[in-house]
Amino acid sequence: MGTLCAKCGNDNDLGKIFCTKCGVKLDLSAVTSEDLIAIATPSWFKRNAKWIAIGAGCFLLFMFCLGMWPKKPLATKTTRPNARAAEQKIASLHRNLKMGESISVKITQVEANGYLMWRKHSMGVTAATISFADNMFFVRVNDTLGPWKLGPIRMAPRYSYDLTGTFLDGRLYYGKAHVGHLRLFGPAKKGRIKALTALFEKNKDKDIFKKLSKVKFRSKEATLTVGKKR
Ligand SMILES: [Zn+2]
Repeated sequence: MGTLCAKCGNDNDLGKIFCTKCGVKLDLSAVTSEDLIAIATPSWFKRNAKWIAIGAGCFLLFMFCLGMWPKKPLATKTTRPNARAAEQKIASLHRNLKMGESISVKITQVEANGYLMWRKHSMGVTAATISFADNMFFVRVNDTLGPWKLGPIRMAPRYSYDLTGTFLDGRLYYGKAHVGHLRLFGPAKKGRIKALTALFEKNKDKDIFKKLSKVKFRSKEATLTVGKKR
């Protein structure tokens, strides 16, 4: 509600002295000082805009950190015999491939995790774990960032990423990717696939993994085949 112009009837905003339409001096006798204080005082939101922005920023940062929070490895109890069983099966793939024969071996989830657990040092990560389901696998890498030095403080925050994938027609395909609890898309997802591939490049059995012609995933086990496709 403003001040009506006596000449042209224009409704002028409170605080105006001359009509904004025709320029005639307005009759301000009805305007009280309370009215003017009300328009001169910024709203609560305007007065606290800085703090609201800082609060919103902190909240978003908190949610982001919560989302980035690492997930636990998929398997924790693995034994050296499990690892050895998987190593022997992979060695038999090597031997048969050299002789040009096609062979399949069944590796259980426990054996696969044993294998990964005993090779994590060569891969340079805290943990790499895997789980098998019908027609797909789920792999998770736990590691630390940095270390970063901030004055006397040494920081090495933990993080995890995971990827789902499947093996079709002699090729590996990746599905969903996450860092912590945050789903990744596009270049971020591609980056994680590259990171995982780089990890496996450090493995001494990488050649055999590249020559897999078929991999069948079932609940808690995977059947690896090298040689001619069947
Ligand atoms: Zn006017």
